[in-house]
Amino acid sequence: MTEKEPCQGRAGAWSQGMVIGRVQKLNYTHQNTPHQHVDATQVCEQLERFDMSINAALEELDKEQAYLCQNQHAESLHVLDIHRMLLQDNDWLNDIRDKIEKQCINAEWALFQKINELLTFFNQLQNSHFKNKKLDIEQAGDRILRHLASQIHVKTVLSTKEPLIFIAQNFHPADVIQLWRKHMKGIVSKQGGTNSHAMIIARSIGLPALMGVDHLIDMASDGDLLVLNAELGYWSLNPSESELDVYRQEFNATNLEQSRLQHYIHRLPSTTKSPSLMVNVELIEELELVKELEVDGIGLFRTEFIFANASQIPTLEQQYRYYVQAVRAMQGKDVTFRLMDIGGDKPTLFQRLLHRAPKGMNPLMGMRGIRLLLENMPLLYTQIKAILMAAKEGSVRIVIPMVHRCEEVIAVREALVLCQNELNIHIDIPLGVVIEIPAAVMIADQLADICDFLSIGTNDLIQYTLATDRNNEYMANSYTDQHPAILEMLKITVKKAKSKNTELSICGEIAGDPAWTQILMDLGITHLSMSPHSILRVRQRLSTK
Ligand code: PEP
Ligand code: MG
Repeated sequence: MTEKEPCQGRAGAWSQGMVIGRVQKLNYTHQNTPHQHVDATQVCEQLERFDMSINAALEELDKEQAYLCQNQHAESLHVLDIHRMLLQDNDWLNDIRDKIEKQCINAEWALFQKINELLTFFNQLQNSHFKNKKLDIEQAGDRILRHLASQIHVKTVLSTKEPLIFIAQNFHPADVIQLWRKHMKGIVSKQGGTNSHAMIIARSIGLPALMGVDHLIDMASDGDLLVLNAELGYWSLNPSESELDVYRQEFNATNLEQSRLQHYIHRLPSTTKSPSLMVNVELIEELELVKELEVDGIGLFRTEFIFANASQIPTLEQQYRYYVQAVRAMQGKDVTFRLMDIGGDKPTLFQRLLHRAPKGMNPLMGMRGIRLLLENMPLLYTQIKAILMAAKEGSVRIVIPMVHRCEEVIAVREALVLCQNELNIHIDIPLGVVIEIPAAVMIADQLADICDFLSIGTNDLIQYTLATDRNNEYMANSYTDQHPAILEMLKITVKKAKSKNTELSICGEIAGDPAWTQILMDLGITHLSMSPHSILRVRQRLSTK
């Protein structure tokens, strides 16, 4: 066997921590197992695959129809209309879902069974009209099958006790969550920037991550040894023994630093002048750590992540079950639920089912956050109701993402009152606004007049102020909180909030950056909400001032 050449490189963006492990490329394989039993834990995955394939087939139909419309193919258009009807007809689709669930089988098999049942039924009818119907069903079934077959699957080729580090072109936030649940210990990707949502998730769950990494994906093979330093932003592939010794020392030093930080797990002594420290939460699994941290509350619960992989619009009951866990965990401390910020770089599987959900050319400036919710009022009502029900067990607040005009806040307040009356739950729920669009900064005083608190979301505020995509690795140097316009934006917001005596917090990533702690305190921002893993460093900073 030939020795592999060692090589090193730097990343454009990184999270924290360090790991030395084995490379596993995120392999996308074509699934072509027609008949397969799955265990009960994989049933959800099969349901998701099925719904994803329906969504993909519908998207494909959109494109085909647009093309045929332009070229005036009336007859073919009629066929596509029938396919669309079938792909939206829950009578037979639900039967397939039932089969997956009840028989614990893969989506392909359930689809085969249903198509066979329908064909047998039509065969018995001996009527030429049903011949066409049979053809339509077969063709619609083929469409779904084709999309099932082209789905990507993570194929874990390595079986090793050493930590696995996944490498991919790009990680979707939902991929990070899924892989982390499967015990992966680090990620490296070509795409993605400092405050991309995949990176925020990595930071929240304490996962070492490097993004904006060129070439590594082409050079590395499954099983290669990789050093990933997400404290300093570099990687080293197949290091020599002597290099590895140095990295191991670094690794031990990082771990030592981590254990020293544990000293700050408890609340700071009341003699220390400290802002109120809260956490940003994305996943229910984070609540354990949050409880240990003795924080002042959850300043931002990004509710959309819980449902990123849901293939159906989350029901009232499903949402309530999650929200109430957070409320119970915080034992009376504030839990600030952000209304679902779907869209932009946070698509959900169920999004296709929403009215006006298509992405458009520029999703970050399109149907995202409150804009999408106000176009889909039933989704908004359901979420508010679930939060209201959870509010019976603690102290709950609601914050609205992507606000750019007062009317959006007024509409949410009306929806809140409506839901309170409908459920007969008249708990007072403070309603806040995330200030993350420059227009919202400029009208922060008007927004303060109609809401109860403001929270600055610097991640998006930087992106929209600097016209710099937070996810674009090529813009990693331009996407920066060091641009003087960002401090100006903060100053304007503070001034406007103060003029109305309205509580102002900050929930973007700079809240958890110790380099910003003093600046934010000097500005008079007294509530900081950050990733749980940032709390210790900020406390350390506060106590060494
Ligand atoms: C922000 O934009 O700063 C924020 C807190 O929200 P998100 O990162 O989820 O967009
Ligand atoms: Mg935001």
